[in-house]
Amino acid sequence: MRPALLDPLFAPATSLEGVGPKVVAMLENIVPADLGTREARVGDLLFVLPNSVIDRRSRPGIAQAAEGQIVTLELTVDRHQPAPRGKRSVPYRVYAFDETGEIALTFFHANGPWLEKIMPVGAEIVVSGRMEWFNGRPSMVHPDHIASAEEADSLPLIEPVYPLTAGLSPKTLRRAIGQALGRLPEMPEWQDAEILRRQTFPAFDLALKRIHNPTDPIDASPQNAAWRRLAYDEFLAGQVALALVRARTRRLSGRALQGDGALEAKIRAALPYSLTRSQEQALAEIHADLTKPERMLRLLQGDVGSGKTVVALLAMARAAEAGGQAALMAPTEILARQHLATIAPLAEQAGLKTAILTGREKGRDRETVLSGLADGSIHFVVGTHALFQEHVAFHDLVLAIIDEQHRFGVHQRLAMTAKGDAPDMLVMTATPIPRTLVLTAFGDMDVSRLTEKPAGRRPITTVTLPFERLNQLIGRIHTAIAEGQKIYWICPLVEESEEIELTSAEDRAATLRNEFGDAVGLIHGRMAGRDKDAAMLAFKNGETRILVGTTVIEVGIDVPDATIIVIEHAERFGLAQLHQLRGRVGRGDRASTCVLLYKAPLGEVARRRLEVMRQTEDGFVIAEEDLKLRGEGELLGTRQSGAPSFLVARIEEHADMLETARDDARLLLARDPELTSPRGEAVRTLLYLFGRDDAVRLLRAG
Ligand code: ADP
Ligand code: MG
Repeated sequence: MRPALLDPLFAPATSLEGVGPKVVAMLENIVPADLGTREARVGDLLFVLPNSVIDRRSRPGIAQAAEGQIVTLELTVDRHQPAPRGKRSVPYRVYAFDETGEIALTFFHANGPWLEKIMPVGAEIVVSGRMEWFNGRPSMVHPDHIASAEEADSLPLIEPVYPLTAGLSPKTLRRAIGQALGRLPEMPEWQDAEILRRQTFPAFDLALKRIHNPTDPIDASPQNAAWRRLAYDEFLAGQVALALVRARTRRLSGRALQGDGALEAKIRAALPYSLTRSQEQALAEIHADLTKPERMLRLLQGDVGSGKTVVALLAMARAAEAGGQAALMAPTEILARQHLATIAPLAEQAGLKTAILTGREKGRDRETVLSGLADGSIHFVVGTHALFQEHVAFHDLVLAIIDEQHRFGVHQRLAMTAKGDAPDMLVMTATPIPRTLVLTAFGDMDVSRLTEKPAGRRPITTVTLPFERLNQLIGRIHTAIAEGQKIYWICPLVEESEEIELTSAEDRAATLRNEFGDAVGLIHGRMAGRDKDAAMLAFKNGETRILVGTTVIEVGIDVPDATIIVIEHAERFGLAQLHQLRGRVGRGDRASTCVLLYKAPLGEVARRRLEVMRQTEDGFVIAEEDLKLRGEGELLGTRQSGAPSFLVARIEEHADMLETARDDARLLLARDPELTSPRGEAVRTLLYLFGRDDAVRLLRAG
């Protein structure tokens, strides 16, 4: 049960003044929590932390205010000069003065009566905004703040700047956050006193208040104790949750799966290649786990194209030999279908039946799969989340494999676990997470790594090209198509809007169609599943030669004869994502090229990123560089790719506290495994605050 004291924070955000359905929809774009289908809550707003601050403390007086400077001025209103009738392009000016001079407060498309109301002639006011010298005369266009002298205190002298989303005014956002802060209940301290002291952490509520109402720019900095406190809270919540899950999953002891290797041998015989050394090694580790009576909890980490799927399949074969079923869960429908296409024919060679279950299987097809799973006549199933819905029952699920795990939360992992009698778990990820961070994302799993690429792979040549030379690129693509090559064309990620992102892909497809006609296909996240499949299939079969897409083609797609990938606006992508995208090519035996199309001028970080991409294909090197270069975001990928992002912690700023949080969590649970001590109770509150309450349900007393 959720502690009642948190109720005010779990109330819908619409319960705040000035937050209606429209505003909430915009707020949902910027709250860091992954809302899924739930609505935004008051508490979600607390974690919308500022990107920077505007310092309005400078009060130089009109005459001394420099061009472009943000200043706060104490003024007396002198006169209003509305735009002449019918001349909307001339601004409305309000002249005001202080002892040093006169300034024109300038408003375009002004609402005259409103301006007269807030700035009556003769009134003393305080304004704050950017100083401009227009024709040698001081002016301020649309001051950020206008207040009467009496309300001057309400003017934020250090103003936090929040992430923006179209349509949401900073003022509305600030007001909503201010109210949310007002609803913070008094909460017990969940941190250890010694850590508070050593790190000079303020209390949770004080930390939030300091960041949202800074009195000095440093207050809102991620390096400041206030923000570090919140980051540490989040790390601790994460580590406690992972430790609880782990304790629980290990408590359910597993089953020793014995196999004679017969089915595996048949599948191996059907493979057109032999396994790499690291595939063999990983498989041996997996087999050893499966044979043991304890449950397997293993992470299979391998760069894109390293061949994780076949390792999964051979592990599944072992499960079948032991008389059980195996499930492989993918994050998207496209990937599930791709896995089916790989696995089903190979499994058939061994006399094993494979089915697929996604949201799209309906009616009779679905019934057939469900009954096959229930009576055990289906040995392998691949699918999406649909696999662990309540009405899906297995005859005897002994092995659950999760591909690209970072898209799934702890919750899904547990749901999958619940489908069998403590099935062995294998989690596969292409994210080249450095070892220390594996811990954060996956808890204490055993790790196997695929460190080499299948033999015969040719390196990918990576080139950078400014937009101005697009024509040259088009020319090369003509040649490539004439030679029978296939091209991915990735369109820029537009953070603010899926709409724009979509338009950019559609526009690009349209311009490419002018050149290449029907050879151009399009795929994007808004398309219905069937249409996506059709687009993928057409590309795979060669009906289309260029596949234009948004980053939906990022993860896992396998079209071995695609040899060129063009990434448009490459400067907007993070390193990890560029690397993932590049991994779509270089999968066959032909030389491949990655073209990073960029818009000059490049910023320093973007330039460095593109350089790293040109220099190396090693996912781990790239991950390390990424960690160094990140200004924002998390190592595990961008939020767009559904990575487990932190709400408030910034890995690049706060990673130093990770291990402490892990040790702290372990110690806490060692002393108080059911979280019933006073600190334990307080930590439950923490888990709810950071959306880790799934873990609370694992507690006996929870
Ligand atoms: P990922 O690790 O990115 O999921 P996949 O499992 O999709 O990689 O494998 C990428 C490609 O490599 C597939 O086309 C697969 O058939 C092929 N492949 C896998 N293992 C080998 C191998 N040992 N030798 C040659 N090709 C392989
Ligand atoms: Mg894969």
